[in-house]
Parts: sequence; structure tokens; C-alpha cells
Amino acid sequence: MATYNTQQKKELMDFLKKHPERAYTIDDIAEGMKTDPDFANPPGKSTIYRLMPGLAEENLVKCFSGGRGTKASYQIIGGESCHFHIHLKCTGCGRLLHMSDEDSRFIADSLMRADGFRLDMGRATLFGLCRSCAEKKEHRI
Ligand SMILES: [Zn+2]
Ligand SMILES: [Zn+2]
Repeated sequence: MATYNTQQKKELMDFLKKHPERAYTIDDIAEGMKTDPDFANPPGKSTIYRLMPGLAEENLVKCFSGGRGTKASYQIIGGESCHFHIHLKCTGCGRLLHMSDEDSRFIADSLMRADGFRLDMGRATLFGLCRSCAEKKEHRI
């Protein structure tokens, strides 16, 4: 049973690794794996539901709780190294960007100095528009 779980977990991670810049709902993942010939034996939706919280806990994926009426989505992150910087989530295209460790530390230090607030880097995500989405938006105006 344990090895079976490990295999499914690995396949799930492989799928997410193929699309590092996309956030997926569990429905999307199940569908995506089914249509991808690389995965001959894709895990079912209920298996993915069961595995996902563990991956989020190990900090292998980041969970974005869905807003009004939308489902939570998941995106792969870089594991350990992602503990040391802030993430930027584009609400336009859904990409997750990794702020440099240096810039993140600068922001964390400022918060610390100003408010005595200790930022939990690995969990801090800022929402906004990435450069290309912001440019697209400007052109439309
Ligand atoms: Zn990261
Ligand atoms: Zn974007």
C-alpha cells in the first residue's frame, strides 16, 4: 500500500513539474493526467484529493484557497528553497513567481523594523499582476 501511494505521489509530482507555472484545481489535474500520454495509469480524483494535503504540508505544492465559489488550486513550488522567499501570485495568468531571497529578506527586515512583525516567508504570497499581464492591461486602456 505504501509503495502504491509513493508511486502515485511521484506521478502527481511529475505532472505538476511539467507545468510549473500553472495552478491547477484537483479537477484540472485529474483531467490533465488522463489526457497526457506520459501517465499510463493516472490516479483518480479521490486519490489526488487524499494526496494533496500531504504535498502541501511538505511544502512541495502551494495551495491557493479559492475565492467566492471557486475551488482551491495547487501549484508546485521548489521545496526547501521556497522557505526563504516571498511568492508573487499573478491574478491575471495564474503564474507563481519567486521573489529573490535578497529582496524577500529586505521586505521581511522592513516589517521587522517597523512593526516587529516576523514574516513567515515560506507562507507569504502577494497577489497582483505580473509584468506581462500589467503591460497587457495598460495597452487595453
Ligand atoms: Zn519559491
Ligand atoms: Zn500574469
